[in-house]
Amino acid sequence: MPTTHAIAGLITRLHDPHYARRASQIRRTGGCRQPIHLRGKVEHYDRTTGHLLHRYSTHLEPDGMLRVPCKTRRASRCPSCAETYRADTYHLVRAGLIGGKGVPQTVAAHPCLFVTLPAPSFGTVHARREKDGKVLPCHPRRGAPTCPHSQVMSCTARHGADEGCLGEPLCPDCYDYAGSVLFNALAPELWRRFAMALRRHLAKLAGLTQKGLAAQLVASFAKVAEYQRRGVVHLHAVIRLDGPDGPASPPPAWATIGMLTQAVQHAATVVTAKVPAYDGQPSRALRWGAQLDTRPITMHGELTDQAVAGYIAKYATKAAECVGTLDRRIQPLENLAALPIREHARRLIAECLRLGSFDELADLRLIQWAHMLGFRGHFSTKSRRYSTTLGALRAARAEHKRDEQITTGRLPLFDEDTVLVVAKWQYAGQGLSAGDALLAAALTGVPMTHLSDAPGGGS
Ligand SMILES: [Zn+2]
Ligand SMILES: [Zn+2]
Ligand SMILES: [Zn+2]
Repeated sequence: MPTTHAIAGLITRLHDPHYARRASQIRRTGGCRQPIHLRGKVEHYDRTTGHLLHRYSTHLEPDGMLRVPCKTRRASRCPSCAETYRADTYHLVRAGLIGGKGVPQTVAAHPCLFVTLPAPSFGTVHARREKDGKVLPCHPRRGAPTCPHSQVMSCTARHGADEGCLGEPLCPDCYDYAGSVLFNALAPELWRRFAMALRRHLAKLAGLTQKGLAAQLVASFAKVAEYQRRGVVHLHAVIRLDGPDGPASPPPAWATIGMLTQAVQHAATVVTAKVPAYDGQPSRALRWGAQLDTRPITMHGELTDQAVAGYIAKYATKAAECVGTLDRRIQPLENLAALPIREHARRLIAECLRLGSFDELADLRLIQWAHMLGFRGHFSTKSRRYSTTLGALRAARAEHKRDEQITTGRLPLFDEDTVLVVAKWQYAGQGLSAGDALLAAALTGVPMTHLSDAPGGGS
């Protein structure tokens, strides 16, 4: 329900002589919840005569400011900009599967797998299982043992899809919280080692040295991290085999999907990442979980390019907040008990803060990444030659925007070579006033909730 303050603000806007200009600014930010405010001017001069050809200044804009979209990828911060990011990621992943955006269509014939590298178990958690459309009991065990904390290690409930206990341990005191956050912290390293082992094993299967392999074949990937409800990350990756020059060159005939599958399975089982000894705890090796999943991606089969691109793009805009943690950094001295989060997330965060204080684990930066439950990797990354880049997609959009500004009379059409452009911009704040937020919601159809608590900074 909008406040009276917001409604009063909206009414002022509607009576403002600058209304049309303001409305067009808001439309142009596409419903951004936390637009950046800029003050400044652009001047076009003729290089030969020095004459001023055109001047644009934010001086004439409402409040003397131009509002531009925040461009975050985090859906919890700005649904509208995150949607742009999601759509870009979708096109980027899809171009790597079927071609387009500068990637040749022949790429569709290259061996390609969709691989899920899961986290291992850190203790039994409540789960919803389905078989043939029927919901199965969670963890039914007749004569189940009782844990040292008097908890019977069995659950016969058939859980609903949204039940709060899903992903939470049967006994929190038995759960390996340290293992869970250390796994998240080491997942990027485990991926790096997996990618190296994959190349090594492909070379071995082909009877080549690693150098010999690189001369004939390149493995490209696009990957995304997904938080499980229990608070650990899984990695999903598209792994594709190309010729030595990337997507435009065909892989050698011996590089089959069967060989790729074999190499992936081998690499996923052999790699480990080592946690050093700390606080009297021995050093331990973490590895991927056993539920490795590898599936071929085909244009018409069970797993299509659209499904894979959609899946990766969806997770690219999500962070740990879906586990019930916070969308901001946590200070070491913060009162965790006062945070509005689930108990399981609270214990994972507390474990990050505890482990982060040991010198031996300092490199893992667990305190800085406590709100991400230890994971500090990027949510979606790809190898250089996988497909086009987000930058290229953004440049194409900026070009389109410029054309639009020229056609709407905002910028004059000059030959780039003859014109000297002088621009001066200044950051003047961020966000929307309560009245502008209502106006934005009305103009763009994007609901503008939680306006006052949009946090800045972070990842
Ligand atoms: Zn935004
Ligand atoms: Zn259960
Ligand atoms: Zn227990």
